[in-house]
Amino acid sequence: MSERFGVNLSFCVKRWVTPALWARLVREDLGLGLVQLSFDLVDPKWPDALLDRQAAAIREATTAHDVTVHSAFIGLAHYTYNQLLHPDPAVRDVAEAWLGRAYRFAALAGIPSVGGPLGAIASRPDAHEADAIDAADYADLLARMNRLAEVAKGHGLTELYVEPTPMRREWPSTIAQAERMMADVRGSAVPWYYCVDWGHATFAPLYGRDRARMEPWLEALGDDIGMLHIQQTDGLYDRHWDFTEAGMVEPAAAVALLDRTGHADKPVFLEVFYPFERDDASVLDVVRRSVAVLKPAFARG
Ligand code: FE
Ligand code: MN
Repeated sequence: MSERFGVNLSFCVKRWVTPALWARLVREDLGLGLVQLSFDLVDPKWPDALLDRQAAAIREATTAHDVTVHSAFIGLAHYTYNQLLHPDPAVRDVAEAWLGRAYRFAALAGIPSVGGPLGAIASRPDAHEADAIDAADYADLLARMNRLAEVAKGHGLTELYVEPTPMRREWPSTIAQAERMMADVRGSAVPWYYCVDWGHATFAPLYGRDRARMEPWLEALGDDIGMLHIQQTDGLYDRHWDFTEAGMVEPAAAVALLDRTGHADKPVFLEVFYPFERDDASVLDVVRRSVAVLKPAFARG
């Protein structure tokens, strides 16, 4: 990987929605050559002929603007439906098929890997959150992950990613769960890796003030981490702020931490979200200013 720092296209959702629009913006306005596609821009449920045309458009625009699409991530739309851990197994089946179609689309677009959060169980009537999901749900999730790796291999993808989330209803939400899951899917048809998100690992309400830090994730999971999401946050919610906002993430310290913990070669993607009603010019301005801070920090790292 020649470039280490890139952007997730989350900020382009409902705005710079075509490959021609986002590829030009990433290259010309941000000065970057590495992106992560969001499936909030392309829905794998769309008809094959439309997806084939969209995939061709990604190949064409990224070639024209010299932009590499490292991976494609689930985004927020599909994530909303509880996916592979929905209480109704038929919904889990739909989510599994959706991912299979996402893999097919990624392969057509020349994108070698796909990832995101896996799913969420339902809340209890009494609103009590258990420390872990039920064993049967976990076993079912592992079976689906192994089947999905077969499907990904069939489409020619080289790796799959799980993004841990700071929620007890999802899996994995802790380092111990993440270690166990990786051991349990070792040997899958294509390898699973983690994408650790700065604003998830540092979420103090779940992990506690002292333990809500990136360092223990980076040290414990090692090379099971394939990439990272970076965002500005205050640790009180999963903010996905950009770096024009005040927060606890300091770019130079973040790069130093990654380097010190053996992650100097892993791609890092800025992942920021904005209200749909915010005007385009101000979004472009703050993303550009964030990249202007982060890109040099990673170049020095
Ligand atoms: Fe993320
Ligand atoms: Mn997040």
